[in-house]
Amino acid sequence: MGEILKYDVAIIGGGPGGSHAATLLAQAGKRVAVIEMEEYPRFHIGESLLPASMPLLKKTGFYDVLNSGKYITKYGARFIDYQSDDQVYFGFEDGLNPDIPTAFEVPRAEFDKDLLAFAKAAGADIYQPEKVLELDFSVDGVKLQTDKHRFEADYLMDVTGRDSFIGKRLKMRNVNADLNNVAVFAHYRGVKRREGKQEGDITVGLLPDASWTWIIPFKGEITSVGVVASAKFAGAPDLQKYLRDSLLKSAVVSEMMSDAVQVGNFHSVGNYSHTCTQFYGDRWICSGDAAVFLDPVFSSGVHMSLSSSTFAAEKILAAFDGKRSLTEEDLGPAYEAKVRLGAGRFKNLIMLFYEGKFVAKMNKMVNREFMLKGFTSALAGDVWNENNYLFQKKVL
Ligand SMILES: Cc1cc2nc3c(=O)[nH]c(=O)nc-3n(C[C@H](O)[C@H](O)[C@H](O)COP(=O)(O)OP(=O)(O)OC[C@H]3O[C@@H](n4cnc5c(N)ncnc54)[C@H](O)[C@@H]3O)c2cc1C
Repeated sequence: MGEILKYDVAIIGGGPGGSHAATLLAQAGKRVAVIEMEEYPRFHIGESLLPASMPLLKKTGFYDVLNSGKYITKYGARFIDYQSDDQVYFGFEDGLNPDIPTAFEVPRAEFDKDLLAFAKAAGADIYQPEKVLELDFSVDGVKLQTDKHRFEADYLMDVTGRDSFIGKRLKMRNVNADLNNVAVFAHYRGVKRREGKQEGDITVGLLPDASWTWIIPFKGEITSVGVVASAKFAGAPDLQKYLRDSLLKSAVVSEMMSDAVQVGNFHSVGNYSHTCTQFYGDRWICSGDAAVFLDPVFSSGVHMSLSSSTFAAEKILAAFDGKRSLTEEDLGPAYEAKVRLGAGRFKNLIMLFYEGKFVAKMNKMVNREFMLKGFTSALAGDVWNENNYLFQKKVL
C-alpha cells in the first residue's frame, strides 16, 4: 500500500470502453492506468458488434486483430415475427455509409482479453485483478484507493459498465422504467446456421408481449442464444424453461435449435437499463454503460461504449492543455450532449421496436429506398450521421 502510483489518466474498468480509451490515450503519449477487477478471460454479455464501431477500431489498429480470422463476420440482422414467421432483413451494405458494410460476432471472453492486451501493447499499465474501492476528486485531480494500491491522476475515466461506480456513489444512476426487462441466455453447440455470407448474421425473433430472442453465431461451433422479457418474468420459477419454450414458438427457430446442446452456464440479468444524471465532473468523465445503457435489442451497447469512450478520451486530451476542468462548456457538457444525442436516436429505434408489429412495419417502410438506407444506417450504429433523413425529420 506504501507508494502512490501517479498517472496522467486513471481508467476504472477494462471492458471494451475502458480498453479502447486506454489505447487512444496511450497512443497520444499519456501515462495511463487501467484498473480491472476481474481476471480475464471471463464471460460477459454483449456479443454482437455494429459496423459503425469498425472505423473507431481501425483508428487504433485493433481492427487487424478483429479481422485476423478468429471472429465471424456479420453482414446484417434478420428479424423474424414468431406469430407469422414473416421476416425482414437489413444488410449493412444497404446503409448510407458504404465504408461500414460489416461487423463481427465476438465471444466477449476473447474480445475483451484481446482489447485489453492491445491497450497494454500501446503502453497502458494494466492493474488486474484489482478493484477500485474509494475515490476522491477535486478541481486539481483524483485519488483512488484499490484493494492493492493508491493512485493519483490528473483525470479519471469511469468505464465500470452497469456497476456505474461514480453514478451510484453520487446517487446519479436512474433506472429507465420504460425499459424494465430481464434477459436469460446461454451458449449452445449445434445450432443450425444459414449458408455462406449469412452464417454470421444475428437473428432476432419477436414474441408476443414485447418479448424477443437473439441468436448470435460465433466462429466455430458455439452460438449465443437468449431471450428478453418484461421484468414481470424475473420471478418465474424456471427461466431456463422459459428460454427453451420461447425458442419453440417459431418454426424457423425450432428447426435451428433442433440439435442444439447447451455448453457452459445459463445466465440471467435484469434491471439493466439506466442513465446517469450527469456524465462528468471537474476531473472525471464516465462513458459506456457507466453513463447510459438502454436495451440490448439493436446490439448498441459496445458501440455506444466505444464511441462515448472515444469522445471522452478526446475531451481529456483537449483538457490537458492548461489542465482544464472537464466542467468547461466545450469539454464535459459538449461531450454529454453528443452521447445523449446518439443514445436518444437508439432509444427512438428501441421504442419503435417495443411498440409492436416491428417486422410488418419495417417491411412496409423499407420498400422505399431512402427509408431502407435510413433504417439500415441506424441499425449499423451510424447514429451521429446527420445525412440520415430519419434523423433530419425526427422519425428517429
Ligand atoms: C442481455 C444483454 C445483451 C446484450 N447484448 C449486446 C450485444 O449483442 N451487442 C452489444 O454491443 N452490446 C450488448 N449488450 C450491452 C453490452 O454488454 C455493454 O454495453 C458493454 O459491455 C459495455 O461496455 P463497457 O466497457 O462500457 O462496460 P463493461 O463491458 O461492463 O466493462 C466494465 C468493466 O469494469 C469492471 N469494473 C466494474 N467495477 C469496477 C471496480 N470497482 N474496479 C475495477 N473494475 C471494475 C468490470 O469488471 C468490467 O470488466 C447487452 C447487454 C445485455 C444486458
